[in-house]
This record gives sequence, structure tokens and C-alpha cells, in this order.
Amino acid sequence: MSATATRIEFTEKMAGHFIARKFTLSAAKPLSRAEFLSESSHSHRRDFAFTVTIKVPDLNKFLQDPATPSQISGKITDFRFSEDMQIERGYFQLFTTPAASPDFDTVKEMHYTLFLTDREGRKWTFFGFKELLKEATTELWKQTTTLYFYLWEGHSTFDTYAEKNVHAIGVLRISVADFARQMASFKTNLNSFSEEKKALLTYFKAFAENAWQAYAPFFFTTTTARWNEHAYPVHTTQGVAEGEITTHPFDTRDGLTLSLQRFCKTPARDVVLLLHGLTTSTDMFIMPEHKNIVNHLHAQGFGDVWSLDWRGSSRFPYNLIPHKYTIDDVARFDIPAAVEKLRALCGEEVRIHVIAHCVGSIAFMASYAAGYVRNIASIVANSVSLTPQVRWQAFLKMMAGPEILENLAGYPYVSPKMPYLPGRGFGKWLYWMERSIRHECKEPACHMISFMWGWGFPAAFNHRNIHPLTHRRLADLFGGTGFHYYKHIRKMLLHKASVSWDERTPINYLEEMMKRDLPPTLLISGTENQIFPGSNKKTYDILSATKNGLKVRYQEFAQYGHQDVFMGQYCHEEVFPALVEFLREHAAVASAPKLRIARGS
Ligand SMILES: [Zn+2]
Repeated sequence: MSATATRIEFTEKMAGHFIARKFTLSAAKPLSRAEFLSESSHSHRRDFAFTVTIKVPDLNKFLQDPATPSQISGKITDFRFSEDMQIERGYFQLFTTPAASPDFDTVKEMHYTLFLTDREGRKWTFFGFKELLKEATTELWKQTTTLYFYLWEGHSTFDTYAEKNVHAIGVLRISVADFARQMASFKTNLNSFSEEKKALLTYFKAFAENAWQAYAPFFFTTTTARWNEHAYPVHTTQGVAEGEITTHPFDTRDGLTLSLQRFCKTPARDVVLLLHGLTTSTDMFIMPEHKNIVNHLHAQGFGDVWSLDWRGSSRFPYNLIPHKYTIDDVARFDIPAAVEKLRALCGEEVRIHVIAHCVGSIAFMASYAAGYVRNIASIVANSVSLTPQVRWQAFLKMMAGPEILENLAGYPYVSPKMPYLPGRGFGKWLYWMERSIRHECKEPACHMISFMWGWGFPAAFNHRNIHPLTHRRLADLFGGTGFHYYKHIRKMLLHKASVSWDERTPINYLEEMMKRDLPPTLLISGTENQIFPGSNKKTYDILSATKNGLKVRYQEFAQYGHQDVFMGQYCHEEVFPALVEFLREHAAVASAPKLRIARGS
């Protein structure tokens, strides 16, 4: 091996067109392939081409990480003055984590980022991407030779957070003849022919391996390639825009350490306590890829927001260790300890408003019904609370599934990460089974979440509402779980009400709740909830006929399912305002002038 780094360079020519179009590009709404193509067929389109030289400065570094930027030099035509602009700095990433394509099935992207300055001194960025779609074997040529691009003001890299002032978009392609010329243009800094040949073969082999990871037909997919891929750090808090973030561990009486995370913009007497669903975590409330509920609450005057990672959180390993925990344990041990800890830190006079989701909601309602927690200012419960009911297909799965998986298959848990495990063992057949009936997308974790939580295509959310980045990191956002929670929910389904698993001191949580004084409670659900369809409506119908009738309300969100009520990219416009409106009625927080209820029933 030579002492200096092996360089490779080649020339690439792409030709196509652009169209002037001014708009603000936001991470939540990247243009789709169809939008690029339809815009580009517009009559105002203009021809455009570039010829650039791409230099891989260090072949070894590139081999270690194919997303390592290479340098691009050359010129491109000025969009406004039809004269050449020198590329000041240019970066090319051959295989990088998808970020620019809104297609759910994009596995890798190639990025071209060129910084330019026009003759008037205005700075521009040309950002182009090619997308490699999962298992789209026959599309290899088309996809690796089609570049979708934006031209935006200023010099900035593609960034999923920042908005860009786009002035033009377009599509470029490589012709077969230009591709042949590109192949002939490959050269290195090596002296001997054999060394050069070896270096180029290494480069092409890396290209082929990466392309194979993307395009391999389903049967051959090598998911280990995604083990280290995280669109965002796994439990990041970078999605929270303002305030101080602190974590407060506490112990439960039955021997677990859990934690509360506090997002404090301004200390307040009215605090909000969030409870995630089973196998998700606080992460579902602080997602950076869209305007999350913590930021929304902060902006609407609820400055002190807490989130409880109870024992079912994917931030902890407890779900993956054999255990016999049920929702009773969450209700009895986790929630009271968390509320006590919160009051110890904020003061006894603090007014706690709870927003709970899914099993977090079943558990909180059970905890309140059993009298383990008191003095709650208001409750928002999503999807399910005191009368769980599921689709009949999910019910059939629930009847035998836990025993088949636990006793026959010998699994301690089931997880959306199963398709990503090596070999053909642990849980792969579950994924293959799901895959054979699923055509809604090609994301293995999405299929497994549908398998684990209900019946639908997909089951847990409406794809419309899910940001592409969320979809790609589902395996980071949802964890695995053992089967005892399922068994407990199954018991509730058979009783047609929330009841305790514990037979020694049985509690019917629904009946207990009917006797208690309920705080103002808003039961919510998506109209397309396929996990617990109609469950909260049923709870509402029952509770509204009791002495608590006037305190309970029910609201549905059109086009929403189960999980997307919090994890959807449009929630800040379509869901959260209704929750804030409710909280506001029961908290001493001044009204914000722009508040609107998006929709409701
Ligand atoms: Zn999906």
C-alpha cells in the first residue's frame, strides 16, 4: 500500500432542466418524486446541464464510510444570467442515510451539495439527491442516474431542521453515452496500472455492495447494514427547542429504577405530565422531525412539561428481560411513585394535567380508579382507557399468540427489531409472514409494529401522517415487549372492561372509576384507530351516564389512527390545538391569541 492516500477522480455530466419556483422548503414537506417530475414537465422549464469532477480524496476513508464526502469541482450554469458559475466548494456523498426523499422506501441517497456565488455576489446552494429504493432491483439504472435538485438562497447543507428559501427545482439525468464517458474518465494518483486497476475495482465493489444492500430482492436483504443507522441519536432531546432538560430517576417499591424527564421553559403551577405507550418512550413526545407536543405546549404557555418513562419504556431494558409485569404493576408502582417524585420536586400545590397514550392511558386510568393517585387537575387519554376493544383479527391473534410465541417459539419478547437480527432464527419467520401480506410499504419495523399491535395496513398509524424520517427510524422509536401485558389486555377484552390481572385482590377499574370523582377528562381517538377502535367512545358512553357525566368529553381526529395522534407530522395543526384548548379550560394559563381548534366532533 502506498504511503499517501489513494485518490480517485472521475468526471460526471448530467443534463436535464429546471424551473423557477419560489417556496420555503421545510423538513416536514420535502417535494415528492411526482412533484419534481410534474413541475419539470411545466412549459416554463429551461435546459440545464453540469459537468463536474468528483474527487475521492482518500479511498480507505471512503471504504470505511461510504457517506464520507468527496469533493466536487467544476462549473454550473447560472440560473439567472445564463453564464458559468464556479463551484466554490462542493461535496458529494455516494451513499448516505436518506433524508431528502419523502419516499418511505428510500434506503440510501446520493447527495450533491454545491456552494455558488453569482455575479451580483448573491450566494446560492445547489442541492441534488438521487434515491435508492428498497428492493427496487429493476430500477437501479433509472434511480442511480436521476438527480432531483433544489437551488436555495445562501450557503447551507441539506438539513432536516432548517427551512430553505428555494428559487428553483429540477431534474437531471445521465445519458448512456455520458455514462460510458464517465466510466472512461476514472483515474487515480497511483503509478502502476495494476495498482490503479485494484483501487478502481475496490471502489466499484464498495459501490456494488451498497447498491446490493438497497436493491437486493426481499429474500436476500441484508438488514445488518442498518444496525448503526440512526437518523437521529436514539434517545435524543434535540427536538426540544427551548428550556432546561433534566432527568429525575426514582425507584419503585417492587425494585425498578424509572425516570421522569422534565422540559422546563418556565416553572409553573400547572404542569403537564406525559405518559407514553407500551414499547415507545418519552421519545414519542420530543421528536425532532416535526413540531412535537413538548414544543407546542411550551409555545402555548404550558412551560413545565414532564414525561414519565414507566417500566414499558424502550429507554429501559426491562421489556426485554423475562418478567411477569402487567398493567397492574404500572398502575400500582410506577405512576404513584412518579407523581410523588414530581410533587416532591415542584411542590405539593402543583396542579398536574395528565396526557396519556395507549397502555400508558390504561395504566393511568387504572391507577386513578384504584385510588393510587389523587388530586389530578385534568386528564387527556388517547385511544383507550377503561374499556379496551380491538378488531376481531387482532382478537384472534391475542387469543393464542402470546402462548405460541412464549411457550412454543420460546421467545422472551417480540420486537420490531426482529427483522434486523442476523440469520434466519429469532423471529425472522414472523417478519416473513407479515411481509407476505403487506404491500403498504417495505419497512420491516413498520410491518412488525402492525403485527404486534393490531390489524391494519399499517395498523398503528395512518401513513399519511408519518414523516418519512419517522418511518425510517421506527425501529429506534418502538422497542420490544414480553407477553404479559398482552395477556392482561386479553383479560380486559374478555371482561369487556379494564380489570386487574391480580386475582387475589381483583379490581374492576371501570367500576371503581364510576364511583370516583373524576377530574375533567378528555377522551380522544383517531377516526381510523385500528388498534383500539371505538374503545374511548365506549368509555365515554359509560362514564357520561354516571355522576361524572359532565366532566367527561370525547373528541375524534379525522384521518388519524392510534399512534400518529402524537407522532404525526401535522399534529401541531390538527391535534395539539384541541388538547391545549381543553387544558386551558382547567389551568390558570393565559390564552394565546392564535389558538384554533383544528377539527373535532
Ligand atoms: Zn410503513
